[in-house]
Amino acid sequence: MLLEDILAGCKKAGKPSISFEFFPPKTDKGEENLWQCIQELTPLHPSFVSVTYGAGGTTQDRTLRIVERIKKETTLEPMAHLTCVGSTQDDLAKLLNQYKASDMRNILALRGDAPEGQDGFQAVEGGFAYATDLVKFVRQQQGFSIAVATYPEGHPESKGGVGDDLKYLKMKQDAGAIAAITQYFFDNEHYYQFREQAEKMGITIPILPGIMPIANYEQIVRFSKMCGASIPEWLHEQMSPIQDNLDAVKQLGIEIATKQCQGLIANDAAGVHIYALNKSEASLAICKNL
Ligand SMILES: Cc1cc2nc3c(=O)[nH]c(=O)nc-3n(C[C@H](O)[C@H](O)[C@H](O)COP(=O)(O)OP(=O)(O)OC[C@H]3O[C@@H](n4cnc5c(N)ncnc54)[C@H](O)[C@@H]3O)c2cc1C
Repeated sequence: MLLEDILAGCKKAGKPSISFEFFPPKTDKGEENLWQCIQELTPLHPSFVSVTYGAGGTTQDRTLRIVERIKKETTLEPMAHLTCVGSTQDDLAKLLNQYKASDMRNILALRGDAPEGQDGFQAVEGGFAYATDLVKFVRQQQGFSIAVATYPEGHPESKGGVGDDLKYLKMKQDAGAIAAITQYFFDNEHYYQFREQAEKMGITIPILPGIMPIANYEQIVRFSKMCGASIPEWLHEQMSPIQDNLDAVKQLGIEIATKQCQGLIANDAAGVHIYALNKSEASLAICKNL
Protein backbone atom coordinates (compact mmCIF):
# COMPACT_ATOMS: atom_id res chain seq x y z
CA MET A 1 0.00 0.00 0.00
CA LEU A 2 1.23 3.50 -0.76
CA LEU A 3 2.35 5.62 2.20
CA GLU A 4 -0.10 8.36 1.26
CA ASP A 5 -2.99 5.86 1.52
CA ILE A 6 -1.65 4.49 4.82
CA LEU A 7 -1.45 7.98 6.33
CA ALA A 8 -4.84 8.98 4.91
CA GLY A 9 -6.33 5.81 6.49
CA CYS A 10 -4.84 6.68 9.88
CA LYS A 11 -6.17 10.24 9.64
CA LYS A 12 -9.64 9.02 8.69
CA ALA A 13 -9.64 6.58 11.61
CA GLY A 14 -8.45 9.34 13.96
CA LYS A 15 -5.38 7.27 14.86
CA PRO A 16 -1.72 8.23 14.75
CA SER A 17 0.50 6.17 12.48
CA ILE A 18 3.08 4.08 14.33
CA SER A 19 6.17 3.04 12.42
CA PHE A 20 9.53 1.46 13.14
CA GLU A 21 12.94 1.94 11.58
CA PHE A 22 15.42 -0.90 11.02
CA PHE A 23 18.88 -1.08 9.47
CA PRO A 24 20.24 -3.81 7.18
CA PRO A 25 22.47 -6.07 9.32
CA LYS A 26 26.02 -6.90 8.24
CA THR A 27 26.16 -10.48 9.54
CA ASP A 28 24.01 -13.61 9.52
CA LYS A 29 23.59 -13.33 13.30
CA GLY A 30 22.50 -9.69 12.88
CA GLU A 31 19.99 -10.75 10.25
CA GLU A 32 18.60 -13.44 12.57
CA ASN A 33 18.13 -10.76 15.27
CA LEU A 34 16.36 -8.47 12.81
CA TRP A 35 13.90 -11.21 11.81
CA GLN A 36 13.19 -12.01 15.42
CA CYS A 37 12.60 -8.31 16.07
CA ILE A 38 10.26 -8.11 13.06
CA GLN A 39 8.32 -11.15 14.29
CA GLU A 40 7.94 -9.61 17.73
CA LEU A 41 6.78 -6.25 16.39
CA THR A 42 4.38 -7.63 13.75
CA PRO A 43 1.48 -8.19 16.21
CA LEU A 44 1.50 -4.42 16.87
CA HIS A 45 0.41 -3.93 13.23
CA PRO A 46 2.67 -0.94 12.58
CA SER A 47 1.50 1.42 9.85
CA PHE A 48 4.81 0.85 8.01
CA VAL A 49 8.42 -0.08 8.70
CA SER A 50 11.46 1.52 7.10
CA VAL A 51 14.91 0.16 6.30
CA THR A 52 17.95 2.46 6.16
CA TYR A 53 20.50 2.70 3.34
CA GLY A 54 24.17 2.92 4.24
CA ALA A 55 26.67 5.59 3.34
CA GLY A 56 28.40 5.14 0.00
CA GLY A 57 25.78 2.65 -1.14
CA THR A 58 27.44 0.11 1.17
CA THR A 59 24.17 -1.47 2.17
CA GLN A 60 22.29 -0.83 -1.07
CA ASP A 61 21.91 -4.53 -1.94
CA ARG A 62 21.15 -5.42 1.65
CA THR A 63 18.46 -2.73 1.91
CA LEU A 64 16.84 -4.09 -1.25
CA ARG A 65 17.04 -7.69 -0.04
CA ILE A 66 15.63 -6.93 3.43
CA VAL A 67 12.82 -4.78 2.07
CA GLU A 68 11.95 -7.46 -0.52
CA ARG A 69 11.85 -10.11 2.17
CA ILE A 70 9.64 -7.99 4.44
CA LYS A 71 7.27 -7.48 1.52
CA LYS A 72 7.20 -11.19 0.60
CA GLU A 73 7.24 -12.89 3.98
CA THR A 74 5.38 -10.58 6.35
CA THR A 75 2.20 -8.54 6.51
CA LEU A 76 4.21 -5.35 7.09
CA GLU A 77 4.44 -2.51 4.58
CA PRO A 78 8.10 -1.59 4.03
CA MET A 79 9.58 1.75 3.05
CA ALA A 80 13.09 1.76 1.56
CA HIS A 81 15.49 4.60 2.37
CA LEU A 82 17.38 5.81 -0.70
CA THR A 83 20.27 8.29 -0.83
CA CYS A 84 22.22 10.26 -3.46
CA VAL A 85 25.57 9.03 -2.09
CA GLY A 86 27.76 7.40 -4.73
CA SER A 87 24.93 6.83 -7.22
CA THR A 88 24.39 8.17 -10.70
CA GLN A 89 20.89 8.70 -12.06
CA ASP A 90 21.27 5.42 -13.98
CA ASP A 91 22.14 3.52 -10.78
CA LEU A 92 19.14 5.04 -9.02
CA ALA A 93 16.81 4.28 -11.93
CA LYS A 94 17.94 0.62 -11.92
CA LEU A 95 17.34 0.30 -8.20
CA LEU A 96 13.93 1.95 -8.44
CA ASN A 97 13.01 -0.49 -11.22
CA GLN A 98 13.96 -3.36 -8.93
CA TYR A 99 11.74 -1.89 -6.20
CA LYS A 100 8.90 -1.53 -8.68
CA ALA A 101 9.31 -5.11 -9.88
CA SER A 102 8.90 -6.28 -6.27
CA ASP A 103 5.88 -4.03 -5.79
CA MET A 104 7.61 -1.80 -3.28
CA ARG A 105 6.40 1.73 -3.73
CA ASN A 106 7.40 3.63 -0.59
CA ILE A 107 10.70 5.52 -0.66
CA LEU A 108 12.36 7.79 1.91
CA ALA A 109 14.42 10.05 -0.37
CA LEU A 110 17.56 11.45 1.27
CA ARG A 111 20.78 13.14 0.31
CA GLY A 112 22.72 10.89 2.70
CA ASP A 113 25.99 11.50 4.49
CA ALA A 114 29.55 11.15 3.23
CA PRO A 115 31.05 7.65 3.54
CA GLU A 116 33.56 7.21 6.38
CA GLY A 117 36.90 8.83 5.63
CA GLN A 118 35.44 11.30 3.12
CA ASP A 119 35.39 14.94 4.13
CA GLY A 120 31.80 16.06 3.60
CA PHE A 121 29.17 15.00 1.08
CA GLN A 122 30.13 15.22 -2.58
CA ALA A 123 27.69 14.58 -5.37
CA VAL A 124 28.94 12.10 -7.98
CA GLU A 125 29.00 13.11 -11.63
CA GLY A 126 25.59 12.28 -13.05
CA GLY A 127 24.09 12.10 -9.57
CA PHE A 128 22.31 14.51 -7.25
CA ALA A 129 23.49 17.09 -4.69
CA TYR A 130 20.30 17.47 -2.64
CA ALA A 131 17.39 15.35 -1.50
CA THR A 132 14.99 17.65 -3.38
CA ASP A 133 16.59 16.59 -6.69
CA LEU A 134 16.17 12.94 -5.72
CA VAL A 135 12.52 13.53 -4.83
CA LYS A 136 11.93 15.02 -8.29
CA PHE A 137 13.70 12.07 -9.91
CA VAL A 138 11.78 9.41 -7.98
CA ARG A 139 8.57 11.26 -8.82
CA GLN A 140 9.44 11.09 -12.52
CA GLN A 141 9.78 7.29 -12.28
CA GLN A 142 6.07 7.25 -11.34
CA GLY A 143 4.12 5.10 -8.95
CA PHE A 144 6.14 5.84 -5.81
CA SER A 145 5.02 7.46 -2.58
CA ILE A 146 7.89 9.63 -1.37
CA ALA A 147 8.78 10.70 2.18
CA VAL A 148 11.72 12.89 3.18
CA ALA A 149 13.80 13.75 6.25
CA THR A 150 13.58 16.99 8.19
CA TYR A 151 15.28 18.56 11.21
CA PRO A 152 13.30 20.42 13.92
CA GLU A 153 16.58 21.61 15.49
CA GLY A 154 18.26 22.31 12.17
CA HIS A 155 20.50 20.10 10.03
CA PRO A 156 24.14 20.36 11.20
CA GLU A 157 25.23 21.75 7.81
CA SER A 158 22.38 24.28 7.50
CA LYS A 159 24.02 27.70 7.45
CA GLY A 160 20.78 29.58 8.11
CA GLY A 161 19.61 27.27 10.95
CA VAL A 162 16.05 25.95 11.18
CA GLY A 163 14.85 28.58 8.68
CA ASP A 164 16.89 26.80 5.99
CA ASP A 165 15.43 23.44 6.92
CA LEU A 166 11.91 24.81 6.62
CA LYS A 167 12.73 26.33 3.24
CA TYR A 168 14.15 23.05 1.95
CA LEU A 169 11.26 21.06 3.39
CA LYS A 170 8.87 23.27 1.42
CA MET A 171 10.96 22.59 -1.70
CA LYS A 172 10.76 18.84 -1.03
CA GLN A 173 6.98 19.08 -0.63
CA ASP A 174 6.70 21.06 -3.88
CA ALA A 175 8.86 18.43 -5.61
CA GLY A 176 6.42 15.69 -4.63
CA ALA A 177 7.13 14.49 -1.08
CA ILE A 178 3.96 13.43 0.72
CA ALA A 179 5.32 13.15 4.27
CA ALA A 180 8.39 14.01 6.32
CA ILE A 181 10.08 12.13 9.16
CA THR A 182 12.11 14.14 11.64
CA GLN A 183 15.52 13.65 13.10
CA TYR A 184 15.06 12.60 16.73
CA PHE A 185 14.73 15.23 19.45
CA PHE A 186 14.14 14.98 23.19
CA ASP A 187 12.23 18.19 23.82
CA ASN A 188 8.82 18.16 22.11
CA GLU A 189 8.86 21.98 22.01
CA HIS A 190 11.32 21.76 19.10
CA TYR A 191 8.76 19.77 17.15
CA TYR A 192 5.80 22.00 18.03
CA GLN A 193 7.66 25.17 17.06
CA PHE A 194 8.93 23.62 13.82
CA ARG A 195 5.43 22.39 12.89
CA GLU A 196 3.93 25.80 13.61
CA GLN A 197 6.50 27.56 11.43
CA ALA A 198 6.06 24.91 8.74
CA GLU A 199 2.31 25.53 8.64
CA LYS A 200 2.92 29.27 8.24
CA MET A 201 5.12 28.53 5.24
CA GLY A 202 2.43 26.44 3.55
CA ILE A 203 3.90 23.05 4.44
CA THR A 204 0.86 20.82 4.62
CA ILE A 205 2.37 17.33 4.51
CA PRO A 206 2.36 15.30 7.76
CA ILE A 207 5.59 15.70 9.74
CA LEU A 208 6.11 12.45 11.64
CA PRO A 209 8.30 12.88 14.72
CA GLY A 210 11.26 10.50 14.96
CA ILE A 211 11.57 8.99 18.44
CA MET A 212 14.84 7.57 19.75
CA PRO A 213 14.47 5.35 22.82
CA ILE A 214 17.81 5.70 24.61
CA ALA A 215 19.54 2.36 25.27
CA ASN A 216 23.12 3.59 25.71
CA TYR A 217 23.51 7.15 26.98
CA GLU A 218 27.17 7.56 26.05
CA GLN A 219 26.44 6.56 22.44
CA ILE A 220 23.47 8.93 22.24
CA VAL A 221 25.54 11.87 23.49
CA ARG A 222 28.16 11.15 20.82
CA PHE A 223 25.65 10.64 18.02
CA SER A 224 23.54 13.66 19.01
CA LYS A 225 26.58 15.94 18.62
CA MET A 226 26.99 14.72 15.04
CA CYS A 227 23.36 14.90 13.99
CA GLY A 228 22.48 18.17 15.73
CA ALA A 229 19.98 16.85 18.31
CA SER A 230 20.33 18.65 21.64
CA ILE A 231 20.33 16.88 25.01
CA PRO A 232 18.18 18.85 27.49
CA GLU A 233 19.62 19.52 30.94
CA TRP A 234 16.88 17.49 32.68
CA LEU A 235 17.70 14.44 30.54
CA HIS A 236 21.41 14.74 31.28
CA GLU A 237 20.67 15.04 35.02
CA GLN A 238 18.57 11.87 34.96
CA MET A 239 20.81 9.80 32.67
CA SER A 240 24.35 10.66 33.68
CA PRO A 241 24.26 9.16 37.22
CA ILE A 242 23.01 5.79 35.87
CA GLN A 243 24.86 5.67 32.55
CA ASP A 244 26.95 2.60 33.46
CA ASN A 245 23.86 0.59 34.36
CA LEU A 246 22.55 -0.30 30.90
CA ASP A 247 19.34 -1.89 32.22
CA ALA A 248 18.48 1.25 34.18
CA VAL A 249 19.30 3.42 31.14
CA LYS A 250 17.04 1.27 28.95
CA GLN A 251 14.14 1.49 31.40
CA LEU A 252 14.48 5.26 31.77
CA GLY A 253 14.85 5.54 27.98
CA ILE A 254 11.51 3.73 27.57
CA GLU A 255 9.86 5.99 30.15
CA ILE A 256 11.13 9.15 28.46
CA ALA A 257 10.19 7.99 24.95
CA THR A 258 6.71 6.96 26.18
CA LYS A 259 6.08 10.41 27.69
CA GLN A 260 7.36 12.04 24.52
CA CYS A 261 4.99 9.96 22.33
CA GLN A 262 2.05 10.60 24.67
CA GLY A 263 2.67 14.35 24.50
CA LEU A 264 3.06 14.34 20.72
CA ILE A 265 -0.05 12.26 20.09
CA ALA A 266 -2.09 14.41 22.50
CA ASN A 267 -0.87 17.41 20.49
CA ASP A 268 -2.05 16.01 17.16
CA ALA A 269 1.19 14.65 15.72
CA ALA A 270 0.18 12.57 12.69
CA GLY A 271 2.14 9.63 14.09
CA VAL A 272 5.39 8.56 15.67
CA HIS A 273 8.32 6.92 13.91
CA ILE A 274 10.35 4.88 16.39
CA TYR A 275 14.03 4.25 15.69
CA ALA A 276 13.80 0.58 16.71
CA LEU A 277 17.35 -0.21 15.54
CA ASN A 278 16.59 -3.92 15.11
CA LYS A 279 15.60 -4.42 18.77
CA SER A 280 12.00 -4.95 19.81
CA GLU A 281 12.09 -4.47 23.60
CA ALA A 282 11.82 -0.67 23.78
CA SER A 283 9.30 -0.40 20.91
CA LEU A 284 7.09 -3.11 22.46
CA ALA A 285 7.19 -1.41 25.87
CA ILE A 286 6.47 2.06 24.44
CA CYS A 287 3.52 0.77 22.37
CA LYS A 288 2.17 -1.15 25.37
CA ASN A 289 2.39 2.03 27.47
CA LEU A 290 0.62 4.02 24.78
C1 LIG B 1 14.34 9.98 9.30
C2 LIG B 1 15.74 9.97 8.79
C3 LIG B 1 16.24 8.85 8.14
C4 LIG B 1 17.54 8.82 7.63
N1 LIG B 1 18.00 7.69 6.99
C5 LIG B 1 19.24 7.68 6.44
C6 LIG B 1 19.70 6.55 5.70
O1 LIG B 1 19.01 5.55 5.54
N2 LIG B 1 20.95 6.60 5.15
C7 LIG B 1 21.77 7.71 5.29
O2 LIG B 1 22.88 7.72 4.76
N3 LIG B 1 21.35 8.79 6.00
C8 LIG B 1 20.11 8.81 6.58
N4 LIG B 1 19.67 9.91 7.27
C9 LIG B 1 20.60 11.05 7.46
C10 LIG B 1 20.59 12.04 6.29
O3 LIG B 1 20.98 11.41 5.10
C11 LIG B 1 21.55 13.17 6.64
O4 LIG B 1 21.04 13.95 7.69
C12 LIG B 1 22.03 14.03 5.49
O5 LIG B 1 23.13 14.81 5.94
C13 LIG B 1 20.97 14.98 4.94
O6 LIG B 1 20.03 14.33 4.23
P1 LIG B 1 18.71 15.11 3.71
O7 LIG B 1 17.94 14.17 2.92
O8 LIG B 1 18.05 15.83 4.80
O9 LIG B 1 19.44 16.18 2.72
P2 LIG B 1 19.03 17.57 2.11
O10 LIG B 1 17.61 17.91 2.33
O11 LIG B 1 19.55 17.56 0.72
O12 LIG B 1 19.89 18.58 3.01
C14 LIG B 1 21.31 18.43 3.14
C15 LIG B 1 21.92 19.77 3.52
O13 LIG B 1 21.87 20.65 2.38
C16 LIG B 1 21.07 21.80 2.64
N5 LIG B 1 20.23 21.96 1.44
C17 LIG B 1 19.16 21.22 1.08
N6 LIG B 1 18.69 21.63 -0.11
C18 LIG B 1 19.49 22.65 -0.51
C19 LIG B 1 19.53 23.48 -1.66
N7 LIG B 1 18.64 23.35 -2.65
N8 LIG B 1 20.50 24.43 -1.75
C20 LIG B 1 21.44 24.58 -0.76
N9 LIG B 1 21.43 23.81 0.36
C21 LIG B 1 20.49 22.87 0.47
C22 LIG B 1 20.26 21.47 3.89
O14 LIG B 1 20.00 22.62 4.67
C23 LIG B 1 21.18 20.52 4.64
O15 LIG B 1 22.13 21.23 5.40
C24 LIG B 1 18.39 9.97 7.79
C25 LIG B 1 17.89 11.10 8.47
C26 LIG B 1 16.59 11.11 8.96
C27 LIG B 1 16.08 12.33 9.68
